Amino acid sequence: SDSHFPVPIAPSQVDYSLHYPHFFPSDETCNENCNSTINPEASILKPHSKKIQFADIGCGFGGLLISLSTLFPETLMIGMEIRDKVTEYVKERILALREANPGQYQNVSVVRTNSMKYIPNFFEKAQLSKMFFLFPDPHFKEKNHRRRVISPHLLDEYAYTLEVGGIIYTITDVEELGEWMKDCLEGHPLFEAIPEKELDSDPVVKLLSSATEEGQKVARNGGQTYLAVYRRIAISGTE
Ligand code: SAM
Repeated sequence: SDSHFPVPIAPSQVDYSLHYPHFFPSDETCNENCNSTINPEASILKPHSKKIQFADIGCGFGGLLISLSTLFPETLMIGMEIRDKVTEYVKERILALREANPGQYQNVSVVRTNSMKYIPNFFEKAQLSKMFFLFPDPHFKEKNHRRRVISPHLLDEYAYTLEVGGIIYTITDVEELGEWMKDCLEGHPLFEAIPEKELDSDPVVKLLSSATEEGQKVARNGGQTYLAVYRRIAISGTE
C-alpha cells in the first residue's frame, strides 16, 4: 500500500541530489536526511536550479527513459512506477548504465509512487514539457474505468502540471482503451490533437513503440497500436 513508500509533501521537497547527483552534488548543507528520498527539512533543500521536465507514468522496466536520456542529455526525466521490484530494477539499470558510460544517463531517474494520487506532490504547475502514458493497464470492466490513468479528472491534473505547449503521449495495443484515451483528450478544453505531419517529424513518437518493453512485445506479436498525442494549450485570457 501507499504507506510503504515516502511521498514528498511538495515538489520543493523532492531531493534532486539523490536522483541526479551529477547535476546536484550534495554539499556541506547535506546531513543524514540526504539518505532518504524525501527530505523533511525544507530549509536544507535549495531551490532546484533545474527541474524535471519529462515524466514517464507507469514506466515499467524503463526502456523509454533510457532511450530519451541520450536523446535529451540535458533534460531531467523521471519514471513513476508503483511496483516495488520493477522500480528497484530500473534503479539498478540506471546505476549500471551510469557506471558503464561515465557522464551519461545522469539525467534519468525513477521513483516508486502511485501516480494517480501523487503527481502534484512531485511537480509544480507548468513544470513538465512531456508526459508519457505508454501501454497503460486497460482495466476493461466499466466499473474499473475509474482506475484508468487517463480520465477527465486526471487530465485536469496533467494539464496543471504541463506547460502550455507541452505534450502528452499515449499509446496502447488495446483498441477500446485507445479510443477511451483519445475521447478523454479530445473532450478536454486544455488539450488539442497534434497534426499527423508534426508527429511524423517528432523523434520521440518513434520511440513509443520501439523503446518500451511493452511496445517491443506488441511488435514481436505483430499487434496493432493506437496512438493519441496531444498538446497542452492555453485558453485565451486565462494564462
Ligand atoms: N510503460 C511501460 C511500457 O510501455 O513498457 C510499462 C507498461 S505496463 C503494462 C503498465 C505499468 O504501469 C506497470 O509497470 C504498472 O506497475 C504501472 N502502474 C500501474 N498503475 C500505476 C500507478 N497508479 N502509478 C504508477 N505506476 C502504475
